[in-house]
Amino acid sequence: MTNNAYESVIKEFMAKVIARNPGEVEFHQAVEEVVTTIIPYVEENPKYKVAKILERIGEPERVILFRIPWKDDKGEIQINKGYRIEMNSAIGPYKGGLRFHPTVNLGVLKFLAYEQVFKNSLTTLPMGGGKGGSDFDPKGKSDNEVMAFCQSFMTELFRHIGPNTDVPAGDIGVGGREIGFLFGQYKRLKNEFTGVLTGKGREWGGSLIRPEATGYGQVYFAEEMLKTRGDSMKGKTCCVSGSGNVAQYATEKATELGGKVVTLSDSAGFIYDPDGIDSEKLAYIMELKNVKRGRIKEYAEKYGCEYYEGKRPWGIKCDVALPSATQNEIDEEDAKTLIANGCFLVSEGANMPSTPEAVEVYQNAKIMYGPGKAANAGGVSVSGLEMSQNSLRLSWTREEVDARLQQIMKDIHATCVKYGPKDGDYIDYVTGANIGGFVKIADAMMAQGYV
Ligand code: NDP
Repeated sequence: MTNNAYESVIKEFMAKVIARNPGEVEFHQAVEEVVTTIIPYVEENPKYKVAKILERIGEPERVILFRIPWKDDKGEIQINKGYRIEMNSAIGPYKGGLRFHPTVNLGVLKFLAYEQVFKNSLTTLPMGGGKGGSDFDPKGKSDNEVMAFCQSFMTELFRHIGPNTDVPAGDIGVGGREIGFLFGQYKRLKNEFTGVLTGKGREWGGSLIRPEATGYGQVYFAEEMLKTRGDSMKGKTCCVSGSGNVAQYATEKATELGGKVVTLSDSAGFIYDPDGIDSEKLAYIMELKNVKRGRIKEYAEKYGCEYYEGKRPWGIKCDVALPSATQNEIDEEDAKTLIANGCFLVSEGANMPSTPEAVEVYQNAKIMYGPGKAANAGGVSVSGLEMSQNSLRLSWTREEVDARLQQIMKDIHATCVKYGPKDGDYIDYVTGANIGGFVKIADAMMAQGYV
């Protein structure tokens, strides 16, 4: 088949996806990115075409929508929407985080669940894909309000999940505090102490390195990409976006490996610290964001550096970009600016942080680009290791978990290299990750019949 013929198959496929899932723009974007790279592979391997694997993967096995009523501190009743997308269980129980953010809707969660299916397959661990959450905004809420909300959320969700069925974790707006409240309510309702959620506290079934895993994995993946060119993180100036879980530990690991992180952001703006965010400054950020729940602006006030209100950090000169906030946070212009300023590697901690136009810019410039479903898979990988430890009723040391995480990131990188087209020292990690993730799920689905 010629490239033109592929293009028309892709166009036809996407027209059906858009018609079946109206208005779900982020979902369309995620599906298009995947099918653009996989349709040529499927055309060459017609058994997948006959079994309609791509069509089936794009349809969730189950979607749960529910009402979450709760009372705020003033005694007023609030109502939020709750969701769980159980996307694909071909290779294991549904697995994927919960997001609490006002921008959450069905299309956003379907995009995240779809990405998760491929990502989980890449990790080499037996996990299916899912995602869930709510349009609840934890910002500005008291601990008591967050607990009331989490308890109400779990009062419905508990009947749909379980250690062998569906194992949620954290995502934006869902950290250790929320997982604690959710786990407590599940335990109360089921009268069972099981590994039904990951990201738990260390004293009650959590894995060491789980909080660090996504950010660490993102930097390990960057290091693997650099190794293909005989390079390393040492001496690299890095722009990080976000200042939450992923951004904090990406900063920690990049610094530990000899890099210098000069930016962090939140939804209000970004800080630029040309001296680099060392361990003492990072400790301040962790206290600011995880305990005081303050704004990144306060960092600039404390350390006397620049703060850019309402802006994203991609105009700052860097070698390496580590987007770690949210979807579509790097657009075409940002991508061009990054490259014009010398950036030659992007490793995504966030899910789908680059728009399709930005990805095209990276690919045309042939810079190293690790897409989220490969580069940020460290988080779910250690969640998988948490599930194993819970089943075995034991806990591995920090060193043991970190060594496993590093090995998994190496294996994911190797899978991308195996399936990714190459041109000299350039590797197409997008195609590599998509095909690498697809083959295992497709074969499992074929073996299980059309269920
Ligand atoms: P957190 O809630 O801990 O932090 C999110 C950060 O991103 C905050 O600094 C937040 O700023 C910022 N942010 C959120 N939404 C927006 C927005 N619309 N515009 C600008 N900034 C925004 O979440 P995580 O660190 O856990 O998640 C970050 C990304 O990483 C997400 O894309 C998530 O899906 C992905 N990810 C997370 C994993 C995990 O293990 N936690 C695993 C794999 C991927 P503010 O506080 O102002 O909202």
